[in-house]
Amino acid sequence: MRAVLVEEFGAPPRLTRVPDPAPAPHGVVVAVEATGVCRSDWHAWQGHDEDVVLPHVPGHELAGTVVAVGADVRGWRPGDRVTTPFVTACGTCPECAAGQQQVCRAQTQPGFTGWGSFADLVALDHADVNLVRLRADLPTSAAAALGCRVATAFRAVSDVGRVRPGEFVAVHGCGGVGLSAVAVAAAAGARVVATDLSPAARALATSFGAEHVVDPADGPVAAAVEHLTGGGAHVSIDAVGSPVTCEASVRCLRRRGRHVQVGLLPAAVGRPSVPMDRVIALELQVLGSHGMAAHDYPRLMSLVMSGAFPLGRLVGRELPLEAGPRALSELERPGTAGITVLRP
Ligand SMILES: [Zn+2]
Ligand SMILES: [Zn+2]
Repeated sequence: MRAVLVEEFGAPPRLTRVPDPAPAPHGVVVAVEATGVCRSDWHAWQGHDEDVVLPHVPGHELAGTVVAVGADVRGWRPGDRVTTPFVTACGTCPECAAGQQQVCRAQTQPGFTGWGSFADLVALDHADVNLVRLRADLPTSAAAALGCRVATAFRAVSDVGRVRPGEFVAVHGCGGVGLSAVAVAAAAGARVVATDLSPAARALATSFGAEHVVDPADGPVAAAVEHLTGGGAHVSIDAVGSPVTCEASVRCLRRRGRHVQVGLLPAAVGRPSVPMDRVIALELQVLGSHGMAAHDYPRLMSLVMSGAFPLGRLVGRELPLEAGPRALSELERPGTAGITVLRP
């Protein structure tokens, strides 16, 4: 098969031919039809993730068709159209038994712990626990985003942030996960303030339902959010994962507000300075949100199929697999609004 192969962290990867994967007894192999280019692929390429072993194939946000099935798999057959959460959970550890597969202690992740979906084929573990069936009328390019950014945003807003109608929600960073958070929060009846350095991303955030947008270049973000919301956001989401956006997210909250960390923030990008004096004095909550379990997808699918979430407009551009190396390097300084999807 063809694959985008990383042989040295940070050095340009190349499209080459590698052996086809075989399914584990509990797993499947999926023919990749679309795979999103996500900021965590960039972190993996840069060597920020200690799970990644070279040589490596990135890619964890995919949609495609099952082509091979392991002997122990019960629920899936060749020809099934699927996506998967980027955390492929084991299904049997204490966290999985409690329904919290997104923090499975024996998890694997395509594109991190093993080879991912910047390729013609990808192997996925524990198919009966993790695969999510795609409706025939869901466009494949947009469906890929359900594997990481849309699902992550949905759970961060709905379940971890517990956003309620009428609340102010601040979203820091309007790449794929930030735009998704804007749309999910707006669909929930929240009033959204979105920030991004890119004018194109801010314009897209407005079209996804943001009531206000803030350019961080204009001055302190926390003060702008406090002004626009009459005292601060009820919920604030760091959708970038940088020390600056994390601190701004905590600082823009009103009393008893909830900060949700979604951007990855590996140690290599620096440790954020979270004002814990403010956390205690204002009784803020600092929460983490890590993807979403497969069994939680039906609520997200209902939102998408209702039309209240503009999934199709999330895709900024579709590129062939050959463009994978270039698309990865462009994540350094995103110049396009919306997500980039590779079509092997
Ligand atoms: Zn991702
Ligand atoms: Zn588990």
